[in-house]
Order: sequence, then structure tokens, then C-alpha cells
Amino acid sequence: MAARRLFVTTALPYANGSFHIGHFMEYIQADIWVRFQRMRGHEVHFVCADDAHGAPIMLKAQAEGIAPEALVARIAAERPRYLQGFLISFDHWHSTHSPENTELSQSIYRALKANGLIDTREIEQFFDPVKGMFLPDRYIKGECPKCGAQDQYGDACEACGAVYSPTELRNPRSTLSGATPVLRSSEHFFFRLSDPRCVDFLRDWTQSGRLQPEVANKAREWLDGERGLGDWDISRDEPYFGIPIPDAPGKYFYVWLDAPIGYLASLKHHFDSGGAARLTPQGFEAFLADPTVEQYHFIGKDIIYFHTLFWPAMLKFSGRKVPDNIFVHGFITVSGDKMSKSRGTGISPLRYLDIGMNPEWLRYYIAAKLNPHVEDIDFNPDDFIARVNADLVGKYVNIASRASNFVTRFFDGHLADVSAMPAWTELDAAAVSGQIAQCYEGRDFGRALRLAMEFADRINQAFDAARPWELAKDDSRRAELQAVCSLCLAGFQALTVWLKPVLPALAVQAERFLGSGPLGWDDAQRAPSVVGKYQHLTTRVDPRLLEALISPDAPAVADKPAAASGKPAGKSAAAKTAPGEAAAGSSAATPKAAGNAQADGVIGIDEFSRVDLRVARIVAAETVEGSDKLLRLTLDCGEPQTRTVFSGIRSAYAPEQLVGRLTVMVANLAPRKMKFGVSQGMVLAAGWDDPARGGGIHLLDPQAGAEPGMRIR
Ligand SMILES: [Zn+2]
Repeated sequence: MAARRLFVTTALPYANGSFHIGHFMEYIQADIWVRFQRMRGHEVHFVCADDAHGAPIMLKAQAEGIAPEALVARIAAERPRYLQGFLISFDHWHSTHSPENTELSQSIYRALKANGLIDTREIEQFFDPVKGMFLPDRYIKGECPKCGAQDQYGDACEACGAVYSPTELRNPRSTLSGATPVLRSSEHFFFRLSDPRCVDFLRDWTQSGRLQPEVANKAREWLDGERGLGDWDISRDEPYFGIPIPDAPGKYFYVWLDAPIGYLASLKHHFDSGGAARLTPQGFEAFLADPTVEQYHFIGKDIIYFHTLFWPAMLKFSGRKVPDNIFVHGFITVSGDKMSKSRGTGISPLRYLDIGMNPEWLRYYIAAKLNPHVEDIDFNPDDFIARVNADLVGKYVNIASRASNFVTRFFDGHLADVSAMPAWTELDAAAVSGQIAQCYEGRDFGRALRLAMEFADRINQAFDAARPWELAKDDSRRAELQAVCSLCLAGFQALTVWLKPVLPALAVQAERFLGSGPLGWDDAQRAPSVVGKYQHLTTRVDPRLLEALISPDAPAVADKPAAASGKPAGKSAAAKTAPGEAAAGSSAATPKAAGNAQADGVIGIDEFSRVDLRVARIVAAETVEGSDKLLRLTLDCGEPQTRTVFSGIRSAYAPEQLVGRLTVMVANLAPRKMKFGVSQGMVLAAGWDDPARGGGIHLLDPQAGAEPGMRIR
């Protein structure tokens, strides 16, 4: 099979705020698809960007007294931590406020104009005489012209549902200045979507069977509606934060014109900065124009109009290749409550990571709910706990932990050849693998995971039926015992392959255990011959974490005494410099342990061993805005997810000195909610109790050869 060449995007997040859970639902969906394609050996370029332009960003920056560029940069700076946190494997992240996007937007506009598809028209619009700007509909309020309800937006009434134009509002006012807006006329630029060439092309493109049926139907309603396709107003008057329209002083492209072009701009920057050189020596333009390259956009159902009408038409009539498909998903609700961008309710992906929840739990849960239709999915905490615990721990990981126990004890990790075993033939991993691949390709992730879990059930049943715990008692039946364990571990390898697009970090750990190196798709039909010592692969979801996630005021993790005994934020991690102090802090958190302490401060070995000290690698270190004492450390502690720890060592170390270093951490310290986030442990450093003695702060260093996760005792 020839390798396919894929250009894949997700919708661009608007750069006026942090990520919400809806973003991650989409990123996780696209990322699973992309990882699957990479495992199949295809060439993928997976990009995204911040959507940086438009009135809301301009006005928000104004309100904060900063330049819009500064606002966008601040939002951009927080993105990587969360994208990496949820294991989203974008090849590149760019911004629509970039030279590439300016150049591409202007050249696409010029081509459309040369094609006779740009018109200008005088239109009358509300103008705020105090702010000196034309007002977008959402910045005008007044009384509904139909029902008279007060305080309604310029485009629709929330009381009676009427839709109208802002000029119909009674007693209109600007929400920016409170002034009464005045009508003023101005020349606007329009993309002539009503042109028969556009209509014919779009009817063909949307109805050719490529789109999801419900998306194609929606497009047909728009195309065949009474009013047909309207021309699209693509210009805004200054002041506006956007890309200037060529040869039209004071006019800017409406943000929705340059936003999708941002997909191309990000890809261009990816190519120009050398990020794609390993895969393709072609330059950006040649790659994009190559008819064998497939172009896909993952989007939510709220922006179908832009992506199935404006976007393909813009590309087509500027002489470019059009997308191969648009993959549309529904919204995510939380326990039945609709998640809305503007309301920002529901669960926060930022908090999810900050309280130390495993990102792969969310990836698995979302994947299990996704199908190829435009359906909303619901995040239900009880369902989340049940699904993750039953499937990942109870079915998948369970196989490895049960079988490896015997394999280590009796066979030193060596497995029997399963290829000729009837039981293995019966499981028919090749057929299951083909079905699961089809599901991934068609974005039916829920079905892919159901097929994998049915396979896991069959493996677990075969294990139980063989009664290995009885075989183990009988020296003459070793071969039988080895056979059933080998069968299970072959099945475990197949499952690891099939789950790898969803659970990439867990797969790395499983690969280490299987001694396999990175597994490709075809490895589902191969079996391991030797396995390493089994190490704990994943944990069950603690319901207390869900409580902490859903209720914003709950302590990060339910160990209340620890949270309550916390020293003032900013000091707690800073002051903890001596190992002795760390142990004392931990035992004070648990009343029972404190009661055991002897009066002279001497502790027993039992009490000391309650402190879980581990080797950790500092994978990232950053200063903390608003604190001159703290550094925010990201630690690899040998667990599936990294931990965030705030440490008061800023006076002694620059962040870049720490990255890559090993140190020692207290791994079982209750998470501590601080002003700047949640600290999930503590790193150990030496220093005098009385800072006046000087001497500085010295982070503990294990000897070379120690590995993250090793226990210190
Ligand atoms: Zn009304």
C-alpha cells in the first residue's frame, strides 16, 4: 500500500481566552485519527494556529490597556502546556496574525477579485460616535422590536426568539460607550457567493457524497433555501485588528476570511521552518497543490457554514485545491448541561491537568463516545469512572498483570510460540485488526474500542478457563501454563497496538514491558517472545478526583487535613528545603501518624517509610508570574503523566539550569492548592532553617544512573 500524504487541521481557537473542554474534545478526536494514520505508515502534517483577529480581541485588549498582539501572545504562551498535557501531537502551531497569513489572505483575495467575485456596496450600519467605530451586532443592545423585552442584543431577542437587524432595535445603545449609535454608511467588500459559478461548484462539492449525510443536508438547505446563497460581507472598517485589504485604505478583512486561511499559513510556516523536510522535500506550494495530497479539517457543528460554503469556494476560485473533506462533530455536554463557549461552564481542561488527572482517561472516555455522526456527547462523571476503570484497568491492563506474574515466576519472562496454537488462530487477531482499522479510518472510535474490549474479554475468559493458578501447582503442567500466559500476552500486544492511537503514553510503557520498541499497526498480529518485569501500568480513577474536577471550590484531592494545614501560598513549597522538614510536614497531615510520633521527635522506621520518596527528572522549569520565590517544575516521576510542583528555589536556580536534571521528590504528599495552581508533591533541597545564616539552597541530586520513578529508602 502506497503511503498517503495527509494535511490535517482542527478549527483555530479564538485567542481571547483559555482552552475549554470543547477544544480538547476536537483535538483528541483529530489526534487519535492522526496517530492512527501515522501508525499505518502514512505521511501526516497536523497543524493548528491561534485565531488572533477581530473586534472582540481588539476590544478586550483595549479594556486591559494592552496591544492586541500582547493579549494574543499571552494566550499563546499558555497553549503548549495543555496541548502537551493532553498528548495532542500537532506538528505545528502558528498564528493568523503572521506574515504568512497576511500574504496568503491578500493573494487569495486578489485572485478572487481577478475572477470577478469581489463586489463593493455601500451599507448603512450603526456607528458609536464616542468610540469612533462601527459596531458589530453583539455590541448593540436595546428593546426587542417584537416583544419589547429590554436589554436585547442587536441580532436576536433572547426573550421571544425573534431575529432582526440591529437597526430595528428600539432605543439602541452601544455596549462599549453607552452612547446612542448613529446610522452611517460605508463601503463594504463582498465575496459574490451568489454567482452561478460558486453555486454550481458548491452544489457539486457538497452533494458528491464526501460529506457526512447530515452535513450535506444542511448545505443543501442553504443552497436551495428561498433566498439562496447570500453574498458574504468580508470587510470591516478601521479601527480593526486584522489584515489590511490591498488597495483599500482603512479596510480590513473580516476575521472569518483570514481564519481558515490560517490553516494554510500554519502549514506554510511548518514547511518554511524545516518542520516537514524529513517527510517531504517539496515546498509548501507544491505540496498543497499536489493532487495526491489529502486535506481534511476537523470542526464543530457551529461552523459548518464557513467550512462547507465559504472555504471551499474561496479556495476553488482562487485557483487552489479544495479540501477533500470536512469532519464535523457535535458539542460536549457535562451531565446533560450544554457546554457553551460563551458561558464557559462545565469542566475545565486546565483544572483537569492541574489536579493531576491522567490525560489518557479523558482521551479514552471521549474516544469511547465518538462516532462518525454529528452528535453531541455527554461527559458524565459516574460513567467516566465506570468506563475507565472497567475497560482500561479491569480488562486491558489486567491481562498483562495476571499473565506476567506466572511468566516471571516460572519462565523468567520467556514465552511459548503462539503462532501455531489453535486458540490464537481462533482469536483471529488479523480480522479484528482489519475491522478496528476501518473504524479508526471512518472516525467510529466508539466501535473501535468496543471491538478491542470484546477481544480483551475473550482473552480474559481464556485465561480464567485454563485455571492457571491450578496449573502452577503442578510441575508436570508447566507447558500448559506457559501456553496460556503466552496467548494472553500476545493478545495484550494486539490490544496495545489497537489502543495506541488513544493511549500513546500507556503504549510506550507497554512497549517497554513487551520489549518491542514502537509498535506499528501490523504488530497486532505478532507475538512477543520475552517480556520484561511487569510494572504497574495505570491506576483506577479515584472518584474524589472527579469531585475536585466538577466542583471548583473542592480541595484538589480530598485529603482535607493536608490542604487545611497548608502554609500560606507561596511559602509552602519555598520553605520546605530540608528533608527532615518534608517528613514532618507529611506526617502532620495525617493525624494518626502524628499520634505515633514520640515526644522527643524520634520517629520509627514505619513512620519514615510512609514518606514515598522518588527519583524525578525535571522536564520543564518556568518562573511563576507574581512570585519572586517560586519556580514551576514539571517532573517526570516514572508515571504516565508528569507532575507539577511549585518549589521555592528561584533564588538559587535559573529555570534553564534545571531542565533535564534528576532530583528527589516526595511523591505521596497530598496535592496542595496554591495561588498559582496545584502543587503535586515537593522536591527536596538543603538549606539552613534560618536564612540569615546564608549558604544558599541546594537541590538534592541522585547519583548518575538513577531513573525517574525509583524509590528512595
Ligand atoms: Zn423579543
